[in-house]
Amino acid sequence: MNKFDTACRTGKPDIAIIGGGPAGFTLAALLAPAGIRVLLADSSGSTPSLKNVTPDGRTAALMGGSIDTLTAAGVWPLLESYASPLRRMAVVDDSRFPANPDAMIEQGFAAHELGRDAFGWNMSLTAMRAALNDVLKTHKNVTVRFDTTVTDFASLGASLIVGCDGRDSKVRDFAGIGVKRHAYGQSAITCLIRHSQPHLDTSTEFHRPGGPFTIVPCRNDTSAIVWVEKTDDAQRFLKLPKPRFVEELQSRTRDYVGTIELISSPACWPLEYVRSTKLTGPRVALAAEAAHVISPIGAQGLNLSLRDVSTLAGIIIQAFEIGLDVGSATVLDRYEKARTPDVASRSFAIDFMNQAVANDKNAVRALRRLALRALSLPGPWRQLVMKKGLAA
Ligand SMILES: Cc1cc2nc3c(=O)[nH]c(=O)nc-3n(C[C@H](O)[C@H](O)[C@H](O)COP(=O)(O)OP(=O)(O)OC[C@H]3O[C@@H](n4cnc5c(N)ncnc54)[C@H](O)[C@@H]3O)c2cc1C
Repeated sequence: MNKFDTACRTGKPDIAIIGGGPAGFTLAALLAPAGIRVLLADSSGSTPSLKNVTPDGRTAALMGGSIDTLTAAGVWPLLESYASPLRRMAVVDDSRFPANPDAMIEQGFAAHELGRDAFGWNMSLTAMRAALNDVLKTHKNVTVRFDTTVTDFASLGASLIVGCDGRDSKVRDFAGIGVKRHAYGQSAITCLIRHSQPHLDTSTEFHRPGGPFTIVPCRNDTSAIVWVEKTDDAQRFLKLPKPRFVEELQSRTRDYVGTIELISSPACWPLEYVRSTKLTGPRVALAAEAAHVISPIGAQGLNLSLRDVSTLAGIIIQAFEIGLDVGSATVLDRYEKARTPDVASRSFAIDFMNQAVANDKNAVRALRRLALRALSLPGPWRQLVMKKGLAA
């Protein structure tokens, strides 16, 4: 037994969560009602309470399973009024942009085809973090420490350390878990727009050689933009004077939502693929972007992460209730086995899709357009894409 192992066995709290992004906060809120002693440490600043939050340009489209997780975490009733339903999803092959505006192929999917009211909800991540923190304040067994960068993990004395500390996870390094990563050479520009025509609760993803450009509905005739370009081009667009930037943005919307107005400062996110070689190490579990980072195409990243934390919370609570050591190899093995297939298949599929969309070879483009057309045929293929690709 090493020094770390000894400290963890004798010390408190039961679980130390490193990283207070949406995943870390959700895990803490899922564990809190079970009476488990949780320490959540986050190096970024504190959050105002939900009633004082002004949503910014960062949103995430969260599908049905993620909403169930937020309900279990006790925050969905608080967040519903900050989220917008996604009742229709459209995928548009716009690979001939900007030369040929008539060469778009659009495929629409409606939630009612699956017998649902909505595929999911588009959520302000700032509001989500604030709501989760508000809920955690009501649990005496949970301590949240903002502005705290943990470097000495062993000294925390927790039975289990959960790394929710993002793509450059230090918990991952500490546990000696390897990582596979490659940069896409793309960056995502995000911002909020107001528009003259309603979005009709439709999320529209245009596929172009630079990457996907997505209009995601928000409340009151506003939408979030996720605009992926090659990094050099993204930097060039961000340096434009505001009117020219808005012009570029307007042309990319293909006027789907009428005339647009920029209502938040654009932000930029470098995109890469990251996957840890394992999800667990001695008394360590990795979740969310500490374990996998995928392209925003298809809006899957946080959905995948919330499945991690939901599964992990279930396994921990079950172990805790029967008196099992929550950091034991038995518990960690269960988590590893339960999450690896979903993480592996989803990471592979999104990586493949991102590379296929960014590939401008004529043959690949023709195949892509054919596949999109084929999705108009009713039947099991279309249902499968909707269930696994849009609603999961
Ligand atoms: C442009 C874009 C659009 C996206 N859209 C969607 C979408 O529509 N749907 C979807 O499902 N997903 C989407 N995603 C993915 C989603 O936004 C991310 O997966 C999610 O925000 C990451 O959350 P996280 O909690 O894993 O990590 P982070 O938010 O990165 O949180 C990690 C936290 O750990 C803290 N930290 C790091 N090291 C330490 C330390 N040593 N000690 C203490 N704290 C530490 C950091 O300060 C940070 O607060 C999108 C991503 C991008 C880039």
